[in-house]
Amino acid sequence: MICKNYFKRYAGGIQMFKKLLLFSALIILIFGVIYSQTPKKPKIYITVDMEGIGPAVSQIQTRPGDSEYEKARKWLTSEVNACIEGSLEAGAGEIVVADSHWNAQNILPDDLNESVYLIRGFPRPMMLMEGIDSSFDGVMVIGAHAKEGTSGAVISHTVWGTKFFDIRLNGISVSETLLNAIIAGEFNVPVIFVAGDQFITNEAKKVLGDIEVAVTKESIGWLSAKTRHPKKVYENIKEKCKTAVSKIKDFKPYKINAPIKMEIVFKNTYDAEALSFIPGFKRIDGHTVLFEAKNVKEVSGVIAGIFSINTR
Ligand SMILES: [Zn+2]
Repeated sequence: MICKNYFKRYAGGIQMFKKLLLFSALIILIFGVIYSQTPKKPKIYITVDMEGIGPAVSQIQTRPGDSEYEKARKWLTSEVNACIEGSLEAGAGEIVVADSHWNAQNILPDDLNESVYLIRGFPRPMMLMEGIDSSFDGVMVIGAHAKEGTSGAVISHTVWGTKFFDIRLNGISVSETLLNAIIAGEFNVPVIFVAGDQFITNEAKKVLGDIEVAVTKESIGWLSAKTRHPKKVYENIKEKCKTAVSKIKDFKPYKINAPIKMEIVFKNTYDAEALSFIPGFKRIDGHTVLFEAKNVKEVSGVIAGIFSINTR
């Protein structure tokens, strides 16, 4: 009798367990369906240079130690914050900010929006794009400036103002912003927003498609620009970043064919001569060295390596 009751209870327990299992599976399935249908919040990468911020017209603002540098760090951080706020209002998820000017320690961490991650310090093999990968949905650029040799543009240069005259990839002369777009394009991530003077924003729209831009100042010359009150610049950046994130699916990554013919044109013949001593680097004229890169990572690594060895 005891035995019979025991088995009865045992069988009932199993039935109950089966029902519980079925119920749990159903709950997991329902949540799985809901989760898979919830759109993923766009993950944003913001790379930050300094020459292109609204009030910057010379190295008085952009060089650590110079008289207006500390003020400029506040302007820079506020432009980044404006971009973050606009992005968050448009539904952005994780945001990673890469401080990418000079020693890459310009943004004031205490004043930066608390919700983001901040990449700081050089050297980095992916330079202004360190940390980018295919998990991101869009790249934004703050403080962008025109490439070396752009007449009329404030502090125009390409990566290394005292040494590089030009960098050409598959015959295309690149600005830092285009180089950033090419690196992001390797991971299928589009540039969706650029803030800087009229030269770099025009170039970005022309080359990268109909992206959002914020013109932070009208460059007049190498060391002069028509500027606005910083708050007006922040407002504009916030608005444009909000628009960019709200239509993030509209933008296309900028792709380049590999292998990549990279030509580095130096300002001094000495530098071109010295680099050509390294196997793989072919001197093609007095100022220019050619390197055939297998992919964008190699392009970035070579530029970052040459630059970093010489600036410490
Ligand atoms: Zn730069």
